[in-house]
Parts: sequence; structure tokens; C-alpha cells
Amino acid sequence: MNSVLQTRADSTSDTIVSPRAGLPGPMPPPRVCPLEKFAFFFDLDGTLAPIAATPDAAAIPPHTLDLLKRLYDACAGAVAIVSGRTAERIDAMTSPFRWPLAGLHGAQWRGSDGTLDEPFVPVEPVAALHRALVRLATRHPGSLVEHKRFSVAIHFRTAPEHETAILAATQELAAEFADVFTLQPGKMVVEFKPKGANKGEALERFLHDPVFAGRTPVMAGDDDTDECAFGVTNRLQGISIRIGPGPTKARYCLGSPQALARWLNAVLDAGEAGPHDQAAVRHNHGSWTDSASVGSCPADQLGG
Ligand SMILES: [Mg+2]
Repeated sequence: MNSVLQTRADSTSDTIVSPRAGLPGPMPPPRVCPLEKFAFFFDLDGTLAPIAATPDAAAIPPHTLDLLKRLYDACAGAVAIVSGRTAERIDAMTSPFRWPLAGLHGAQWRGSDGTLDEPFVPVEPVAALHRALVRLATRHPGSLVEHKRFSVAIHFRTAPEHETAILAATQELAAEFADVFTLQPGKMVVEFKPKGANKGEALERFLHDPVFAGRTPVMAGDDDTDECAFGVTNRLQGISIRIGPGPTKARYCLGSPQALARWLNAVLDAGEAGPHDQAAVRHNHGSWTDSASVGSCPADQLGG
């Protein structure tokens, strides 16, 4: 185990901490080295791609994609995307590369051999739920329904005044469709994901894949759906990284997707420089964290 991982007193803690409540906040993540001992898992929206007004407007910056490719080469392929988006959308957003992935919060899964496993979800419940959410969106102008083949989401980032009403209505629908779907609230979105799908189990499944097996997990995510993957990562003594503010189980925190990209760049430079040059690399990069502060996280923990 990398000694840097043993510096936190709460290394086995699964406690949710809330920087906003003035409790001790997560620390910036440490450098990870050597890279071939780690497996990397990244959420997409809000983690690799900045949050956008609508799902179709989100994009992974080309520089971040280049970093992912460098990371893939540096750690012999142990890099996966773990997202609520479909596999098709993940592939489109990361084209032309086809990553190992967990789509739809883990309902879809593609390991290092490139075979995509998909869930069995009956067509009619998906269609009925879609119709119900379209009716709900019609009553709340500005909200947006997204059909994701095996799941359906309603977004209200462009209609925040309807948040309370939409949350209440989706709670009722969750009870009606409980046999097939699980409610997954997110940032200005409520999603109905296939029952049983969760990112934590998807991450554990990757660790049985021959390319990922035996490695220490590094998981970065920004939303409630990432918390179960943080829990698994913590249990395995890995590095869990929350992107942005909010209560979290993650042990480490970065302020934005841009800060994550800078941390990755520093990690890669250090790994490619070799162990004897790492002090110089660290000095050149200074802090890996974002100057845009995260909630009320203490400045000395988030860096400048
Ligand atoms: Mg996200």
C-alpha cells in the first residue's frame, strides 16, 4: 500500500462529512504512485465534463480526454468511466476511444474485453414511466425528460422553480414503479434507474476484471450516485475524491473538473518522471486544487 494513503486518521471511516456544516472537510487527494498499482474510475458529468444546462450540451474538454489516454497508457488500461449516461452516450462523448465503462449507474457494464452487458428491463414499464414524466414536464415548463433506453430522467436545471413539485411527484412515481426502477436523485435531476444498479457494485465488478484486479481503486465523482462507489473505495483502502461541495463519504476533495484535470496532470507528470524526479515535479505544480473554493471547505484543505 502506498504510504501516502495511510496519513488519514480516519482511513477506514465511511462517515459522511459535510464541509458546509463546518465539520472537518475532505483533504485534497494525494499523488498516486506507482500508477500501475492503481485502477482509476471516473464519473462523467460534473467530474470529467463541467455541468451544462442540458445533458446534450455537456462535453469532456479535449485536454481532459488527452489526460485520460495518457493515464490509460501509464497504468496499462485500468481506467473506466462510471456514469449515469448510457454506454452509447459515453462512447459518443469519448470518441474515438472505447473505454471500459459502467453506464446507467452500473446497469450497463463493459470490461476490458469490450463486451457490453446490458440489463433486462421490460419495454412497457419504461414506456409508461416515460409517458408519466412527459406529462409531469408538461405541467412544469422548462423541465426536460431524457429517455435513456433502460431508464428515464427528468431534469430541471433550466426550471429550478419547479424543483419542489417535481421531487414530490417523482416520489409518488417511485412507489408506483418500485418493482422495476429505483429513484436516483442528482444535481437538478431525478432519475429512475434499473432496480439494483449502483456504481459501487459496478466498481467491485471491475476489480474482478483481469486488467483491474489486484489494484487500489481511485474513484472520482461529484454527485449522490457516486457515494456508494466512494464507500466501496474506502472499504478497499482506496482514494475516493469528491468533486465540488456537498456531504460525502469521500476522503478527498477537489473543487471542479478543472481541478481534477490538474491533479491528473500532476500525477501523470510525476509517474512518467520516475521516482527520483518526483520532488521537482511536485514543486513545479504546486497545489493541485482549485482556486474556486468549494462550499466552506477550509482553505488550507482545498488549497489555492
Ligand atoms: Mg456526475
